Amino acid sequence: MDLSTEIQRRRSFAIIAHPDAGKTTLTEKLLLYGGAIQLAGHVRAKRDRKKTKSDWMTLEQERGISISTAAMQFEVNGHILNLLDTPGHEDFSEDTYRTLMAVDCAVMLLDAGKGVEPQTIKLFQICRSRNIPIVTFINKMDMPARDPFELLDEVERILGIAAVPMLWPIGSGRDFKGVYHIADDSVYLFERTTGGAYRAPVDVKGLDDPELKEMIGDELYASFREGIDLATGALPSFDKKEFHEGKITPVYFGSALTNFGIELFLKEFLAISPAPEAIRLRDGTQLPTSEQFTAFVFKLQANMNRAHRDRVAFVRIASGVFERGMTVFVNDKKKTAKLSSPVSFFGQDRSTIDQAYPGDIIGLINPGLFAIGDVLFTGNAPEFHPLPRFAPEMFARLIPEDTSKMKGFRKGIEELAEEGVVQVFTREHDASPVIGAVGTLQFEVFRFRIQDEYGAPCRLEALGFECSRWIRPEDKSKFSSYDLVLNDDRGNPVVLFKSEFRMKSFQREHPDVPLYESPHLV
Ligand code: GDP
Repeated sequence: MDLSTEIQRRRSFAIIAHPDAGKTTLTEKLLLYGGAIQLAGHVRAKRDRKKTKSDWMTLEQERGISISTAAMQFEVNGHILNLLDTPGHEDFSEDTYRTLMAVDCAVMLLDAGKGVEPQTIKLFQICRSRNIPIVTFINKMDMPARDPFELLDEVERILGIAAVPMLWPIGSGRDFKGVYHIADDSVYLFERTTGGAYRAPVDVKGLDDPELKEMIGDELYASFREGIDLATGALPSFDKKEFHEGKITPVYFGSALTNFGIELFLKEFLAISPAPEAIRLRDGTQLPTSEQFTAFVFKLQANMNRAHRDRVAFVRIASGVFERGMTVFVNDKKKTAKLSSPVSFFGQDRSTIDQAYPGDIIGLINPGLFAIGDVLFTGNAPEFHPLPRFAPEMFARLIPEDTSKMKGFRKGIEELAEEGVVQVFTREHDASPVIGAVGTLQFEVFRFRIQDEYGAPCRLEALGFECSRWIRPEDKSKFSSYDLVLNDDRGNPVVLFKSEFRMKSFQREHPDVPLYESPHLV
């Protein structure tokens, strides 16, 4: 197959959702319908299994939350899907942001009973800032749901994007009987199955089929017809270009748990979602079809396999063809790397790959060679936008509790900081670093991992700072003892402020001292 055919059949996406909306369940069902697994429950079963391949997920299991960002690849009807998992917990890490930089499309999952929730808004905004197309899936229609008009209105009002229904639900809760496909003018009726482990049988009918009325009952039929008439008359219709430009979001209804509407959704998703597109460059664009191989590192993860103490760099291919064993430049033409042991992932299972194409995510075993934001390439150096770093909003001091374990403590900090779990700030002659994050959960994860993986017990002491900015080295002396000046992991000076208010008053007093939200801007 040639390069452009390989690109056209690929879809790289993430599911964004507030916790509990059903992301894990939908993931399982997409894999089920994709034929990647025989029985749903596989993903969760693996996650719950005591002996997972990566033991550091103990914390994940204990808390029942997803900490790591895994990438899964599976095939559906000749399409190759790369599904990137974003942590669904309330707390964010920079990982979440960076993962969303590596996808071409997002599925926004809403709970039909709850609508738009706080985490939905945050994740939506990140996708929006990149203009990536967002497909909406309204889940849990088998439970008492809010009125579809109300849900669509909420998406428009709160998220500010026009919601275009592609399907219209027939009933909800116990009465959820199926969906009407607006463009095809056909009705899909679902049959309940026990446990939702197998594909739900579907019956397709015309809207005016007398049998349809009989099957769903006169009352439901009447209210459903009324809804369709209103929806098709009043709401905007679907335009693929507007969707790809991030101006509208097509909306689907279904129930992941009972498999209602999943097969239909998957088919539609493959038809409307974009194949890997041009990656934004500082100067012009890099087309995926370019012969030149380019890729970027968006995530690092240490100790995925305890026995081997390995570190994996997750790389998104932007253009060209990846071949196992190829030699690439890293960032500039001074450093090269031979990519000899690339892996692709299916949940926690990995397999060696020989070739990969734009849109694919590959894992490279990383002997300290790669850092987040690195660009790998052949030929001339491309000018990628560096992945953004975010100014942390929470800070804590990490205090080692066993001085005989200082070696492990330092090594752990260095390796985990490189992974970007938290940002590490230090001061000369101070053994206890300050760690900063955009969410508190990262602190706990970080502490746990230093202890668990590097054998260095430590404790956290919260610090009363609320914002941080990077500064020019020459401005260090301008800050009072009220603020805390530290260095980041690359030696760039950073200042921590007690509050937004304090930062603003500093700015008023020192209009000549610029403050930067990211070290790249200094
Ligand atoms: P996540 O936190 O977003 O990954 O959500 P999960 O997939 O773990 O689902 C949260 C809960 O909602 C679980 O108890 C699921 O069984 C349930 N759930 C998910 N999808 C549906 C659905 O379509 N209908 C119903 N009734 N429950 C669902």
